[in-house]
Amino acid sequence: MIHRLRIPTPFVVGPVNAWLVSGGGDHTLVDTGPDTPEARAALDAALAEHGVQLRNLSKIVCTHGHADHCGQANRIAAETGLPLWAHGDERALIEGGQHLEMVLRQREFALARGFPEDLFEKSIAYYSALLHVVSPARIARPLADGDRIPMGGSDFLVIHTPGHTPGSICLLDAADGSIITGDTLLGRITTNAFFRGNDPCEGIGLKAYQASIRRLASLAAGVVSPLSPAGGEGGLRGEGPVREVHPGHGRSFPEFRATLEKLQSHHRERAGHVLAALAAGPKDAFEIVQAIFPRDLPLSEIWLAFADVLGHLEVLEAERAVMAVPRNGRTAYRRCPSPGSAAVL
Ligand SMILES: [Zn+2]
Ligand SMILES: [Zn+2]
Repeated sequence: MIHRLRIPTPFVVGPVNAWLVSGGGDHTLVDTGPDTPEARAALDAALAEHGVQLRNLSKIVCTHGHADHCGQANRIAAETGLPLWAHGDERALIEGGQHLEMVLRQREFALARGFPEDLFEKSIAYYSALLHVVSPARIARPLADGDRIPMGGSDFLVIHTPGHTPGSICLLDAADGSIITGDTLLGRITTNAFFRGNDPCEGIGLKAYQASIRRLASLAAGVVSPLSPAGGEGGLRGEGPVREVHPGHGRSFPEFRATLEKLQSHHRERAGHVLAALAAGPKDAFEIVQAIFPRDLPLSEIWLAFADVLGHLEVLEAERAVMAVPRNGRTAYRRCPSPGSAAVL
């Protein structure tokens, strides 16, 4: 049985879901909520509703290392000795605590693409203020794509779905068609895939995220395709169909395939908006944000909107639909002439 435990967070997104997976004498906690007294009280109370205490758990599994999902894993592990299982690629976030570093690494990249410096400092201050709700934790068992892990009397398949974070995972119980998706697939909210920029890690950004979504879509058709066309991870055959999605935020829902398709069409639509914003000539990424988002975005949303546009620009650049052009010592983007058009470069 998968039980939803709603845990409050100080983030704009609202409560996060932790999951108690129980059965066959095992209780596993998937995600923990942030490291706040409110989250801890809510977790204890929610577990107690199912007659479980932290000491009855066998382990903690984290879908990814963000503060709202993994924030109190360290405190719980220190108190109880419970092992934390998470994907190996999530080490920088979970063990290194590199939440701000990942954003700071993108400072020059973002400023060169029009993000105002004062707004960058304000965004950093905003996120720093929230980061007391996570502390680094040790991953006792690094998970990998294709691992099968015992939870609540079932074997769950670990599906590596990078993009939102490098080591985001989904956990599939093929026997009853349940999938726990973390922030990789949400119901009503669109996942932010951030952007890769100059980050050497390939597992972050919209391009990686779209590949993960295609992979989940193949699962909807009954086969998990490899993570990369060259093979490597993946080729997990014979899984699915999925009957119930348990997302990181919001209610569980049955529409797995339809939600993936909606997400893909949302991505196509947003890419179309980015291209349309460039119809009258080159713009930098921040000018595109101003063209396609409302002017009065709250501070918490501006960086995410910028990241979203940069993610689409990276994908469109790879598809040769747009190209980066230098402008006043910075980087702007222009549409590439479609093949066969008479446009003069
Ligand atoms: Zn997240
Ligand atoms: Zn989240």
